[in-house]
Amino acid sequence: MRLSKLASEIAESPTLALNEEARLLRERGEAVINLGIGEPKNKTPIAAILSSGAKLSSGEVKYTPPDGLPSMKKAVIRYTEENYNRLVAPENVIITNGAKQSLYNIFYSILNPQDEVIVIAPYWVSYPEMIRMCMGIPVIVTPEDGTFTPRFEDIERAVTSSTRAIIVNSPNNPSGEIYPPELIGKIAEFCERKGIYMICDDIYHKLTFDRNVAVPAYSLTKKDVDDSHIIVVNGVAKLYGMTGFRIGWVVAPRQLVKVMTNVLAQTTSCVSPIAQAAAEGALNGLQSVVDALRLQIQNNCEVVLQEMKTFHGARLIPPKGTFYALPDLRAFNNNSVEVSKFLLKKAMVVTVPGREFGMEGHIRISFAGSVKDITEGVARIKWALDSTSPNEIYIGDKKMVRDWL
Ligand code: PLP
Repeated sequence: MRLSKLASEIAESPTLALNEEARLLRERGEAVINLGIGEPKNKTPIAAILSSGAKLSSGEVKYTPPDGLPSMKKAVIRYTEENYNRLVAPENVIITNGAKQSLYNIFYSILNPQDEVIVIAPYWVSYPEMIRMCMGIPVIVTPEDGTFTPRFEDIERAVTSSTRAIIVNSPNNPSGEIYPPELIGKIAEFCERKGIYMICDDIYHKLTFDRNVAVPAYSLTKKDVDDSHIIVVNGVAKLYGMTGFRIGWVVAPRQLVKVMTNVLAQTTSCVSPIAQAAAEGALNGLQSVVDALRLQIQNNCEVVLQEMKTFHGARLIPPKGTFYALPDLRAFNNNSVEVSKFLLKKAMVVTVPGREFGMEGHIRISFAGSVKDITEGVARIKWALDSTSPNEIYIGDKKMVRDWL
């Protein structure tokens, strides 16, 4: 069959593939624990349900403007003022089908073939693939010192005359790292000076623990939004646990928003008014839902840290935000794909191999789920890999004995 070379080379989403494998195992009655997916367990906030319900009941479910419903844009403008201390115009905002579409449309709108985008490892799996889909070249910068925070000099060294953007995701998926304000400030200043876009993927920006805060790049530049090269991506998937509504947005210079609007209009026409109404409800409703989720996730993180204390050989840099931990398991095996497959086969636990995030030798554990799953999941991982852990364990109602260490 003749297919597009470009499309055929796009990798399958590893998280979705692992979820599918886990679903099949569960269907066969296996006691699978999914620590792979980044999806909070909370119910949709009531304000979102009421708002989308009202829209649905109105029977007025039609095409919407390609850049978003004016009322949803208004909610984003208010959100931006409250959380970023920036007053932006409706022309600076576009609503998209999830933050994923925001990112894809940004790359599509700013890249010419062979243009480069700096991606900092560990990175979210989709960035390099999306950049390639837009004919660009991802240039990976990996911290050399075993941390998850890059040195500014290394980013600067990777920049060439073809660099169009640097993508910054802090709090970071998959490491939970939050970059220090000085680093964010240096990147922002550099991008503004050089005319390179700084794409801030802020999808986890309020999911931070203890006194850690993710400083927005906007607070570190004096430039007006229309003259700035800072682009902010956000959405309701993670902060409000509204993954299924598929609502994201971008705040950017109006010239870019105009081009992105044409791209969205020609590809998906617009965003569903029901989903937009839900997101609007979430943004305008009680924000205590975000704090409740943040506290629950922080508690889950503490459970992971507690469990990891007795995992001999594993090294973990404690996450400062998000709902992911990225332990270094090189003491057991350098090949993270082998480790993840082994953990699914022996311990019935879904994890994501670090290789997918540019961090070979690590695995990503999501702690967005229940405390029970997290405790049991990590116990099973220890049982499968760490010879100092008890060699018997129950998986479902089956007593398992470790006979490979
Ligand atoms: N950016 C990062 C870093 C993510 O982890 C995700 C989802 O996992 C997204 C963007 C996409 O968010 P959405 O579900 O709104 O498309």
